Amino acid sequence: MAGDILLEALGVYSSTGELLGDSVLVRNGSIVRVGVGVNIASARRVRIGGYLLPPLVDAHLHLESTGLARSSVDLSGAKSPEDVGRMLAASPGPVALGRGWNQEEFEDSQRLPTRKVLDHYVPDRPALAVRVCGHMAVANSLLLRMVGFEGLKPGLVDLERGLLFEDAVYRSLEVVRGIFSAKDLVVRASKMLSEAGIWGVSSMACSGSEMSALKSVGDNLAVRVSCYASLSEYRRLAGPIGGVRWGVVGVKLFSDGSLGARTALLRSPYSDDPATSGVELLGAREIERLATEFTARGFRTSIHAIGDKALDNVLEGLEKAVSAGARPEDLRVEHASIAWDEQISRLSRLGVWVVVQPRFRVSDWWVDRRLGPERASRVYPFRTMMSAGARLALSSDSPVEPFDPSETFKAAIGLCNGPACNPSESLSPKDTIKLYTENSALASAGPVAVLSRGLDRESPAVFTASNKDPFNSTRKELQEIKFWGVGLERDWTGLASGF
Ligand SMILES: [Zn+2]
Repeated sequence: MAGDILLEALGVYSSTGELLGDSVLVRNGSIVRVGVGVNIASARRVRIGGYLLPPLVDAHLHLESTGLARSSVDLSGAKSPEDVGRMLAASPGPVALGRGWNQEEFEDSQRLPTRKVLDHYVPDRPALAVRVCGHMAVANSLLLRMVGFEGLKPGLVDLERGLLFEDAVYRSLEVVRGIFSAKDLVVRASKMLSEAGIWGVSSMACSGSEMSALKSVGDNLAVRVSCYASLSEYRRLAGPIGGVRWGVVGVKLFSDGSLGARTALLRSPYSDDPATSGVELLGAREIERLATEFTARGFRTSIHAIGDKALDNVLEGLEKAVSAGARPEDLRVEHASIAWDEQISRLSRLGVWVVVQPRFRVSDWWVDRRLGPERASRVYPFRTMMSAGARLALSSDSPVEPFDPSETFKAAIGLCNGPACNPSESLSPKDTIKLYTENSALASAGPVAVLSRGLDRESPAVFTASNKDPFNSTRKELQEIKFWGVGLERDWTGLASGF
């Protein structure tokens, strides 16, 4: 990148919404100056046509699966198991892969897709249809024969019906991924993310193939990647590894499943299925033991907890791990979807990261049926968490939700409807941007944490641009907000759109 570049915007903002000026001078891929009417005659001027913000960071997504999602068909429109089969059959490629079916959207929600239906529509290649939540799937006979299910907890595989849950889903996806090239998937995903204005990601439950792909192309990707390895991959690592723009910095654990699949662990039974309270994947003692082990080996701990009982287990386990010497800023709770006041106080006192997904407020419109009105009023309590002093970071959980940051931003500030979108729990635009830039970068750690320096001198010259002023627009105007990436950082090949 030879010579100085002067970026001219409608406004340049800090992560806390402070107006810093209208122009940014960039030299050798770093920010040299931010101010009003900066004028350097020799600089190449570039008009942004919008506002400049520090780079957005998605603190929880799945990089390789995001690439894979673009290689699969969208099943969200399916109204029956037969629709799922028909749509899968139309997918191109060596595997019929689809994602997004939801029996709640079927004409008969009691009838799930099965192996037999898939065999009928896709008889000649492996087929997998993942439910919208990612915690449940259905496979055809060909694929079931390719996946080894031995050693799984009982109840996760129903071979007769072809239904798969939790680890059985991940093992099947692993086989499917092996048929695609992980390098292509990671490159495809990172290009789409940087164009959308996301410059750093925590990629959760990284697979071995994703790590190998990062080893070969990680330093040339447009996005910085902090990987949290799956437990099985962690066991194969001698210690944290990485390059300049990517690193395996932690381990991702699961303490329960999802609300959609009724595997999230609740204190009392599901309102629409009193026979179950969900599934405990890890208890408090196990969480304490693992977090303490990861700390001793230089890894951070990230743990998925959706139900309130799962959060009890995670709090107890992490409190003990902190007493044993783990640093709270190295610990993360993912989702914390149902959290009561006393749990929120404990989270805040403990000082661990709480990584939330605002877009779930839009997707979980069925939450009052599943949980009953009292518990449904406690889902996604973002503002209560914020006021209690919890350390929040934002994310999409792509491909579960779209990675498009305008979707996350709008859901966070309450441009959504339905029982999961409680207006009193919405965040202000100012808080949203702070959490989505600085906090999400710090929660991600590793190479992504560099982006938390915002628009300081010497910071890498990566920005997220927006067509609307996120801090000073009406809610109606913010309905139209769009983000995109502006990157002039040195040493990577994929300059973002516009340059
Ligand atoms: Zn996730």
